[in-house]
Amino acid sequence: MPLIELDNLRRSYGGRDGAPETEVLRGVSLRIVAGEFVAIVGASGSGKSTLMHLLGCLDRPSSGTYRFAGRDVAEFDADQLAWLRREAFGFVFQGYHLIATESARENVEIPALYAGLPAEQRQARAAALLTRLGLGERLEHRPSQLSGGQQQRVSIARALMNGGRIILADEPTGALDSHSGQEVMALLRELAGAGHTVILITHDRDVAAQAQRVIEIRDGAIVADSGAQPSASALPLPALDQAGHGRALSWWSAFDEVARSAWRVMWLNRFRTALTLLGIVIGVASVIVMLAIGLGTKQKVLTQMASMGATTLYLYSAQPPEGGPWGVLSEADMLAVAALPEVDLATPVIGNPLNVQYGNVARDIYVYASNEQLPGIHHWPLAAGRFFTASENRALAPVVVLGHKARQVFFRDEPQPLGRQLLIGDAPFEVIGVMAEKGKESGADYYDEMVFIPYQAGRARVYQDILEPEYATLTAASTGQVKAAGEAVRELLLARHGREDFDVDNAAAKVLAEAETQDSMTRMLGLIAAVSLLVGGIGVMNVMLMTVRERTREIGIRMATGARQRDILQQFLGEAVLVTLVGGSVGVALGLLVGAALLLWQVPLIFSFSAMLAAFACAVATGLLFGYLPAKTAAGLDPVVALTLE
Ligand code: ADP
Ligand code: MG
Repeated sequence: MPLIELDNLRRSYGGRDGAPETEVLRGVSLRIVAGEFVAIVGASGSGKSTLMHLLGCLDRPSSGTYRFAGRDVAEFDADQLAWLRREAFGFVFQGYHLIATESARENVEIPALYAGLPAEQRQARAAALLTRLGLGERLEHRPSQLSGGQQQRVSIARALMNGGRIILADEPTGALDSHSGQEVMALLRELAGAGHTVILITHDRDVAAQAQRVIEIRDGAIVADSGAQPSASALPLPALDQAGHGRALSWWSAFDEVARSAWRVMWLNRFRTALTLLGIVIGVASVIVMLAIGLGTKQKVLTQMASMGATTLYLYSAQPPEGGPWGVLSEADMLAVAALPEVDLATPVIGNPLNVQYGNVARDIYVYASNEQLPGIHHWPLAAGRFFTASENRALAPVVVLGHKARQVFFRDEPQPLGRQLLIGDAPFEVIGVMAEKGKESGADYYDEMVFIPYQAGRARVYQDILEPEYATLTAASTGQVKAAGEAVRELLLARHGREDFDVDNAAAKVLAEAETQDSMTRMLGLIAAVSLLVGGIGVMNVMLMTVRERTREIGIRMATGARQRDILQQFLGEAVLVTLVGGSVGVALGLLVGAALLLWQVPLIFSFSAMLAAFACAVATGLLFGYLPAKTAAGLDPVVALTLE
């Protein structure tokens, strides 16, 4: 059975978009058996390269059949063709077609990479092949650091990497000086002697004469053939039924290879990459900072709310807008307000700094007179003892509860102040409790410095000349009723007083409103950050599209050496993701830096790990999303078009 059997093969170009159709191959029929050394000779433009691209499955014929080892190649899908290029063929081109950014060794490794050979074996085999071809000293050289003859030997080593049963050489000596050319020819002869099928294309009759069989082509048709010269020692072919089932790259080696080459490409274009990344960096950094500010402000508002109670309202007497005397909040008003269904707790308050004395310690201390509901209103537990009761309040009991700091002022050295007598003004009060510490974080630590006495006792024993409460503190029945409670109190007092000689300070509602503004601010800033990420993503897509165009030749080379479409897709997608990964990392770092600077400026800020993770994930998703189109474009390139593009 012939290895290669062409039957009336035709290939024409054009015929579409008004371009005239030209038939480049006009019915080529040809049989080549395994182990032959064939030269196809013809003038420039006679269709030799076109024929070689068809033979090497880089291109498909317009009509006619191509049987490879008895199988019609037209039935092979893209992956199976890639398998054939990888396992059966080895290409050697006039222009060497090495990847400029990779070393000699890495160039030779490429076919094995796509065949799924583990890295160490790959490297060892590539080094051995290059050493055999006299390039043992040049393994890590880039193509640009090698002479033409050396580059061509690298490309021969690459053709042999996966076995190279069939070597397709298109004008391999065309660009070489005569000495290097003779070396390359000697190599090809040696390979033919070792059982490789060698198909050599040349316009030079002297070169062609070195082959066992010479086929002459003119204007796309065979005009002479010296006849088949089968060799006894042909290399066995890879099992064709394995076509397309070849080992795929292991995840790790795919990742490793993609990351390595992507990093190199990024580094070579580092200025452009850095500019592209700016969008991603700014996007990620601002997402992180905005969320941190949002969280920080919200936390601050929440602490404020917790310390004052999320449902607290204040009621003051005031001068009515139309003028006249100040209003008076009577105790009857207080009772009526406390009875409203929207209101839960309420206390009248009188408070002033007074002289307070214990033993020989005397201080001006704020003496706060309220009813027994104060701990409930402020969600404020006791540290020791108890708060006074409603009946104690009614009975004008002379009892006092100390704030945390007030206790330290008077009873620094006493383990237990309960039962002691404190002199407030001129009246003795018995200590019955100590409040828990409010602390600095609460934003209300001034309460810690006060002492608390029953309202009625305060009126009767301390504030004799103050007849009415100075103000009242209320709590709404629930957080949802804060506004309603304010309205209800207002209506009630308007009805009772007949004029607006009071003021309801809805502190909780204000804080809530502030929290809402903060929320919408955060949302807006977050949106801006997201837009910045989007713009960054578009930048990445733009650069990736450019990269694909710039590296079309590289894509062609990779396909000719056996890359599947999926491998190319993986590579370019990997590059896009790596770019955004780097951008994301720099963005996170920048976000943290800016955040730290803001913290120094006393901006409340809380970094959240999940926000960072989310921003990072967004960046990578952007890479995947916007890298997909360019990667798909690259993978969809026609091998022969990609390869021959100038
Ligand atoms: P050779 O390798 O023998 O010099 P080629 O096979 O490269 O010749 O080209 C043969 C003819 O086909 C030339 O006339 C060339 O202009 C034409 N040709 C090759 N590729 C294309 C193409 N992609 N589109 C149109 N014409 C082409
Ligand atoms: Mg040519």
